[in-house]
Amino acid sequence: MSANQVIFHGSKVLLPDHDGLVEASIIVDTDKGTILSVIEGPLSGLGDKLQVIDAGDNVVLPGLVDTHVHLNEPGRTHWEGFWTGTRAALSGGVTTVVDMPLNSIPPTTTVENLAIKRDAARGQCWTDVGFWGGVIPGNEDQLVPLVEAGVRGFKCFMIESGVEEFPCVTEQDLYKSMAALDDQPGTVLAFHAELDTPDGPLPDVSSHNHTHYSTFLTSRPQHLEVNAISLITRLQLQFPSLPCHIVHLSAASALPIIRKAKAAGAKLTVETCFHYLCLSSDKIPDGKPVFKCCPPIRDSSNRELLWEALKDGTIDFVVSDHSPCVADLKKLDEGDIMSAWGGISALGLGLGLLWTECQKNHPEVSLSQIINWTSTATAKRVGLDATKGAIKVGADADIVFWDPEAEFEVTQESLQFKNKLSPYQGFTLKGTVQQVYLRGKLAYDKDKSLDEFSPTGKLL
Ligand SMILES: [Zn+2]
Repeated sequence: MSANQVIFHGSKVLLPDHDGLVEASIIVDTDKGTILSVIEGPLSGLGDKLQVIDAGDNVVLPGLVDTHVHLNEPGRTHWEGFWTGTRAALSGGVTTVVDMPLNSIPPTTTVENLAIKRDAARGQCWTDVGFWGGVIPGNEDQLVPLVEAGVRGFKCFMIESGVEEFPCVTEQDLYKSMAALDDQPGTVLAFHAELDTPDGPLPDVSSHNHTHYSTFLTSRPQHLEVNAISLITRLQLQFPSLPCHIVHLSAASALPIIRKAKAAGAKLTVETCFHYLCLSSDKIPDGKPVFKCCPPIRDSSNRELLWEALKDGTIDFVVSDHSPCVADLKKLDEGDIMSAWGGISALGLGLGLLWTECQKNHPEVSLSQIINWTSTATAKRVGLDATKGAIKVGADADIVFWDPEAEFEVTQESLQFKNKLSPYQGFTLKGTVQQVYLRGKLAYDKDKSLDEFSPTGKLL
């Protein structure tokens, strides 16, 4: 009898390299919280010797890994925080989040600032939390020390970020930072890829109605993304060994450049977000800044092209880009979309959103693909694939019991994040997270209050 081992058994377990679901037993070392072995088939005699946690009719999934989340603490903790943000993540089956370097004060642009952020996070995390570093003008000398201090990669902006302490970079700044990172193994430079240039500037919409969604859409045309991605792929030719990543792709017109660069062997990955795949501008009502994000949600034909690109591998994975703020800044009363904060709150809703959308409009997409896009591929991008993103030997036992049939309504009360504002309020989603185990220990149960648990996430 091993007191420090348990078996997770399910008749529908999602394992890597399997197309469908299989019956399997997952043996977990509860001291270390890692998976010791995975045995396919019915529960063996081991079940007599060890405690068995049976998933019943639920599907057993690896915990999701959301690599694009703004938790905003310290400094803008009234927008979101480690406590509320990671509770929202956990309740949606997300067991690892990677926090973006901006919107907290200070931003994660120096080793000292990373330490401040980690201090703020400690003891407050309900999921595991990793950190992106930031590239801003003049911080090249901090980049290698930040890699050594454990950041999972770097993010930069090619257009105004919306907060003054995180300025955007020029092509010259990018040369310096890419040169600094070029021979650093295991890191990645991620780009907010919108760029206004003299031959493709930001359109002037000052005379348009500022409560109309179409005004906002006109103000952030697709060519901003095309400009940016053209420059990124050009820079990659100078620094071919440095992996680059495009965050939150929205413009389908940039897909040909991405396909060409990938075909030529560029170390380039691309993410899109749940909102670009599940919402479209033709259905967004005027006067509702809750739908505002940058780049914007575009029309349904653009959305179809993003789906195509996701299915053919041009887009590698899907994240939330959870970027909340307080209600005042969202300008809900005035409905002024042009002056509202740009950012959508969706942390923890991703699995339900994608599953529901696929059941309705993309029935050929398998659950394995969805989990690859939201867990396996995201974990790999940030160098966490040895321990996250799949149910496999050696990985952390981050395990989700999930009912694919049960529906739930997204209500204000059901949202766990701090400012309960989301474009998905009122949506009925299919697929309900029943229980979540973090490193083999029960961390969330749908039928219990989270207050009966305590935060057990680690800083990665
Ligand atoms: Zn973001």
